[in-house]
Amino acid sequence: MSVRVRFAPSPTGFVHIGSLRTALYNYLLARKHDGKYVLRIEDTDQSRLVEGAIENLIKSMDWAKLPHDEGVVIDNGALVEKGEYGPYIQSQRLDIYQDYIQRLLNSGDAYYCFCSKERLDEVREKQKSLGQTAKYDGHCRNLTKKEVQNKIRAGIPYVIRLKFPVDTNIVFDDIIRGRVVVNTDEIDDQVLIKSDGFPTYHFAVVVDDYLMKITHVIRGEEWLPSTPKHVYLYKVLGWEAPKFVHLSNILNTEKKKLSKRQGDVAVEDFAKKGYLPEALINFIALVGWSPEENKEIFTMEELIKEFSLERVSKSGGVFDVNKLNWMNNHYIQNSSVERITDLAIPHLIEAGYITDAESKEKYQWLKDMVSVVQDSLDYVGQITDKVDIFFKEEIVPGGEEAKEILRLEHMPHLLDVFVQKVSNIETLDKDSAKKIFKEIQKEEGIKGPNLFKPIRVALTGESHGPDLPLIIQVLGKESLFSRIEYVKKHLI
Ligand code: GLU
Repeated sequence: MSVRVRFAPSPTGFVHIGSLRTALYNYLLARKHDGKYVLRIEDTDQSRLVEGAIENLIKSMDWAKLPHDEGVVIDNGALVEKGEYGPYIQSQRLDIYQDYIQRLLNSGDAYYCFCSKERLDEVREKQKSLGQTAKYDGHCRNLTKKEVQNKIRAGIPYVIRLKFPVDTNIVFDDIIRGRVVVNTDEIDDQVLIKSDGFPTYHFAVVVDDYLMKITHVIRGEEWLPSTPKHVYLYKVLGWEAPKFVHLSNILNTEKKKLSKRQGDVAVEDFAKKGYLPEALINFIALVGWSPEENKEIFTMEELIKEFSLERVSKSGGVFDVNKLNWMNNHYIQNSSVERITDLAIPHLIEAGYITDAESKEKYQWLKDMVSVVQDSLDYVGQITDKVDIFFKEEIVPGGEEAKEILRLEHMPHLLDVFVQKVSNIETLDKDSAKKIFKEIQKEEGIKGPNLFKPIRVALTGESHGPDLPLIIQVLGKESLFSRIEYVKKHLI
């Protein structure tokens, strides 16, 4: 039997980083076993629909480079279906659910429930006041056919519920959690069809996973309490249940569930900030899964090869943003300057450093500038802080050390000599800059930090920073002269 897995998000408008990991583990399992990875849209909760959410979701998945074999894809701006088990959007499968609910009604495994919201609230309140767990009291479980018909004819709104047997154990095995046993007395008669005619998640998920021939259901642990209901549905429908894997929540460094309130959790946010997809994927793969070998950097091919559900941890993995930054920095360092420049341009435009037109005219210069700071970026968005020195001609000493350097006795003379030498050469680039430093060293006897630091402070205001000859190349003669002029006039 070939592996068929699915990622089945509800399109809420953004993809949580935890969902990205769920998608990734599904994807890895499918690729590892030459199986199929399906993207199914679970939009049966009509009250939670968000305009454009499906498109956003697909874009996030494309960005993360997790292409699905079946499901909905964007083709020329339109949503289209791909695969033979569609439709892959649940709201387009309503007639399919109707067929199966009919089967359950006929077999007596489901029943119409006409209880009003007021009645249900009352029952719940009463149970609570008696210290009991709130649960549907089975009021409509045994209505006769006639009673049901009359109520439907009278136009009383209804839902359809699953009829659990009393005091019966439901048992299933989770690949990473082991055996789970739940007694039906502890669970509600689950609503399968809502009063708006739409199926609930619980009903649709079972029907779809069966019809789409899903072999492994890999999803977040928040669905674990629902799984006994699903397992029972499989049983009464006479179907074999898939294998289940419930992934533990991703935790923050305080070991609490990672939530939107604590900052970025949406895949889009990471993309916007300038995290590279392969870095985010590599990082998130390791939050909850441990490879056999003790290594941290994995290409997608390596992840596919090494991944196994058996090594997915039962305890929650921790989202450590410092580790993500370290990893992203690694991938940025190993990327081409062009790629990082292209990613940096929108940030530079947004920060007002360049215009859209300048980003094209000055592309080569921008690339040189990016190459100066590329290795220091944790994420591309940081560029706007790091390149400040290239856009501000008015030097501001960046700290005590810089101020001290500006007070050095040989500072004015050194700047004069430096300016003189720069004016004498034709093209100023990093090699000619290096040559100038060598000459000054030889002719003036000024060496090491006494030579480089004053020039650095005069050009950038900072006593530390990226490669000085490269900075000089990017600044160019004109900017270099005007900076030194400014320093001489205002700071020394
Ligand atoms: N629609 C559910 C969600 O939003 C899917 C749960 C499942 O994978 O069964 O997470």
